[in-house]
Amino acid sequence: MNQGAIPSGYTSLNGELAIAGHTASHWVAIAEDTPLFLYDRRLIDQRIAELRAALPSEVELHYAIKANPLPELVNHIAAQVDGLDVASAGELELALASGMTPDCISFAGPAKRDRELRAAVQAGVTVNIESEGEFTRLAAIGKELDIPPVAAVRVNPPFDVKASGMKMGGGAKPFGIDAARVPALLACFDDAGVRFDGFHIFAGSQNLSADALIEVQARALELASDLALLAPCPPRIVNIGGGFGIPYFMNDKPLDLHAVGAALGMALAERSAVLRAARIVIELGRYIVGEAGVYLTRVVDRKQSHGETFILVDGGLHHQLAASGNFGTVIRRNYPIANASRFDKAPEEVVTVSGCLCTPIDRLGDKVSLPRTEVGDLIAVFMAGAYGRSASPTSFLGHPPPCEMLV
Ligand SMILES: *Cc1c(COP(=O)(O)O)cnc(C)c1O
Repeated sequence: MNQGAIPSGYTSLNGELAIAGHTASHWVAIAEDTPLFLYDRRLIDQRIAELRAALPSEVELHYAIKANPLPELVNHIAAQVDGLDVASAGELELALASGMTPDCISFAGPAKRDRELRAAVQAGVTVNIESEGEFTRLAAIGKELDIPPVAAVRVNPPFDVKASGMKMGGGAKPFGIDAARVPALLACFDDAGVRFDGFHIFAGSQNLSADALIEVQARALELASDLALLAPCPPRIVNIGGGFGIPYFMNDKPLDLHAVGAALGMALAERSAVLRAARIVIELGRYIVGEAGVYLTRVVDRKQSHGETFILVDGGLHHQLAASGNFGTVIRRNYPIANASRFDKAPEEVVTVSGCLCTPIDRLGDKVSLPRTEVGDLIAVFMAGAYGRSASPTSFLGHPPPCEMLV
């Protein structure tokens, strides 16, 4: 096999792939068309329960909406987590509409516009400051509205994360404020009339190494406690990031969540006095929703070219850019993929599954093993719950957007 392993929790029913207790064709009949994304709420709930069981009980769990902003899904998750992280005014609206209380919402992200900062101050959410300039604009907006803004400092840590799929800290970065520049900023809060809320240290995404995550969490706590001594008051929140990865590709091993939780428990027990009262937050997107999503697309054509078999489907990278290998990966590798119409059949042929766009990079599976696949069959691409539709160029070529259902 040349593709990733199908995540646990998927079985067959009447020969087809079962999703949330029904066949793939049942869901397609309800959606009345392909392609579609299905998100299984039981798998999301199960994942949250696993996190709660493995992480120290005092750790707060936040959901990073950008992983999957489907409103119904955000509402479903909001009821089970301690906070939401947003990265735009649009996501802020979703978070507020979910009923999450504003002091459990944080707004990170570079290049926040004045109108976004204004919306955040008016709502009373925590703004994670990404630069000195943003701090100055936030302070001015607070004065103009006569509402003291609440801000945490996003720190660009002086370390990066080993084994991380997407590095977001260490070295020159558009995210956060270099640790060496943070003390000078902390000294400005009181005069600027900005309420200091804490620190945000997010160093990278898609990490499957427990050892690397344990190290980065310990270093984030150390950095937060050093900086806290220079802050106008002890931090109310220390967000130590997340970055927990999921096994997309062949030979990827699932993260050892229990090792991460146990080590974090020890690190928290030993944390310095200045962090004693702080709420410790872990923010996760992909890990909560990634494995709970399936993308279903129908086979439109099958053809031979230079001895290779191509399976041509009605979906593609305009819905699932990440599975085509063009979102944050250097080397293209295959996501787990299956013939959902013949899920109980053994692999019989090696085929390339191509999407419907006129570009050679539109491949959902490159030389993958599938049972004999016919026109009309449904192909399932797994690990489609995070960074799927919302992280794809949906208007490219003018095909209709995919249907999405929380089931
Ligand atoms: C994207 C992002 C996340 C979520 O990352 P995942 O890999 O989906 O868990 C969390 N925090 C910040 C600041 C982010 O930018």
